Amino acid sequence: MSGIGKGVVTASLGAILKSCGFSVQIIKCDPYINLDAGTMNPFEHGEVFVTDDGTECDQDIGNYERFLNQNCSTHNLITTGRVYYTVINKERQMHYGGKCVEVIPHIPYEILRRIYLVRRLYKPDFLLIEIGGTVGEYQNSIFLEAVRLLKIRHSHDVFLIMVSYLPIPKNLGEMKTKPTQYSVRTLNEAGLTADMIIGRSEKSLDLPRKRKISVFCNVPIPNIISCPDASTSIYEVPIILEKENVTQQIFRYFQIRKKKADLTPWQQFINKKIKSFSREIKIGIVGKYFEIGDFALEDSYISVIEALKHAAFEWKCFPKINWINSEIFEKNPAETKNLKNYHGVIVPGGFGARGVEGKIKAIKFVRENNIPYLGLCYGMQLACVEFARNVLNFQDANTTEVNPNTKHPIIDILPDQKINLRMKNYGASMRLGVYDCLIKENSLAFQLYKQKLIKERHRHRYEFNNYYLKEFEDKGMVFSGINPQRNLIEIIELKKHPFFIGVQFHPELRSRPLNPHPLFIGFIKSTLNFNQ
Ligand code: GLN
Repeated sequence: MSGIGKGVVTASLGAILKSCGFSVQIIKCDPYINLDAGTMNPFEHGEVFVTDDGTECDQDIGNYERFLNQNCSTHNLITTGRVYYTVINKERQMHYGGKCVEVIPHIPYEILRRIYLVRRLYKPDFLLIEIGGTVGEYQNSIFLEAVRLLKIRHSHDVFLIMVSYLPIPKNLGEMKTKPTQYSVRTLNEAGLTADMIIGRSEKSLDLPRKRKISVFCNVPIPNIISCPDASTSIYEVPIILEKENVTQQIFRYFQIRKKKADLTPWQQFINKKIKSFSREIKIGIVGKYFEIGDFALEDSYISVIEALKHAAFEWKCFPKINWINSEIFEKNPAETKNLKNYHGVIVPGGFGARGVEGKIKAIKFVRENNIPYLGLCYGMQLACVEFARNVLNFQDANTTEVNPNTKHPIIDILPDQKINLRMKNYGASMRLGVYDCLIKENSLAFQLYKQKLIKERHRHRYEFNNYYLKEFEDKGMVFSGINPQRNLIEIIELKKHPFFIGVQFHPELRSRPLNPHPLFIGFIKSTLNFNQ
């Protein structure tokens, strides 16, 4: 079922195999009709992650990148929508030569074509394919059918792992294997047999439990892997799995001579995290939030949270994150003074008008009170609007996303994006993926990145309006990063402030646990220097 950590398990297996010296690619099969995750509400579906090539996908791809410390591309994502879209288009082009095109076999064939494509493009030693959803449901059956065909074609090259949940009902206090037994049967009905079962549970699977699963599910005991909740971090999962000799069993199946996994970097990361607990820094993330609870919020902003942690552990401190609903500042502007209680404030990416005035009030407060500030995308745009209103005295300055009739459109839409909106062409049409950014020397950005040309990932439609550039500069704003091809503003910062930086892109998407992002490292460092 969803949420048991299939993504983390898959990514962790990839990380272990990579640490053995193998090259790894991972494909996510998502059983939804959307072509990508770009049109989905992050508060319902979780964060929209963006890859270098501008693919809008979900957090699993983010986890693959973080665990493998390598970039993914559009080829790493297969959705039901993508598969049907291609098949239907091919049918219109007479690709099937007048045949009746059917769900079986044409849909699984298209899935296989996409899998083979990754094999051909990247030639990985190991290709991991994660199938989303639950075995037995209607939605992902086309993917299971594709796996069945894969297994028939390459029986010795395909190893099937089932990730299964083992509940421990509170009233019993005992781990139950029955749901696993039944899901294995359901898998068998799809013509598949598991070569390995990874048991996800609150606690470790003991030997009696493993024996039981082995007998009822036809899997030898060494191939039943215990994967209890990690006590420190998801990045402990590779270590947990390898303690269970997961690679030994996989190598035995493929008859590969065993290579030793070197998980030292992950162990070092965990050690850093443990050390960080003694020093807490308070970070306020100001956004428009729905009443969905902290748990869902964590899902919607997972990359920001991850990036903060990666950087904070470098400084041996722990980021305590508070979600601050910007609407409270609209009802009661005096509340902004509570931002003094934070070591640093972030306004993350966002869309639409709700809560914007509150975010602007928050930015005004942190600017005037020298509180470290990091603005991510919308957070950068609104920092410009705030500056225009309160420093340049353009009272009604705004982004045209919120007020299309403002006299001072500080943030405005480019003509090509205007057409997209008029044509209701919303899918995959934002400014997406990596673009160049040239950094000015003698700037805070240069101090942090230590290089002149950087590439960062984008996901937005609106831009800083260069008409106002000079006036902003005269009053102390520095445009320290510019996209050279289109002359678009990428980074802003303030001279007279200990740490105030806004970026049009999403640095959080490129932060990795073993490779934290320089902007976040700088931000955390400034929060440590900030005396409340
Ligand atoms: N809504 C803004 C835009 O589309 C910012 C987007 C974002 O924060 N990702 O330009």
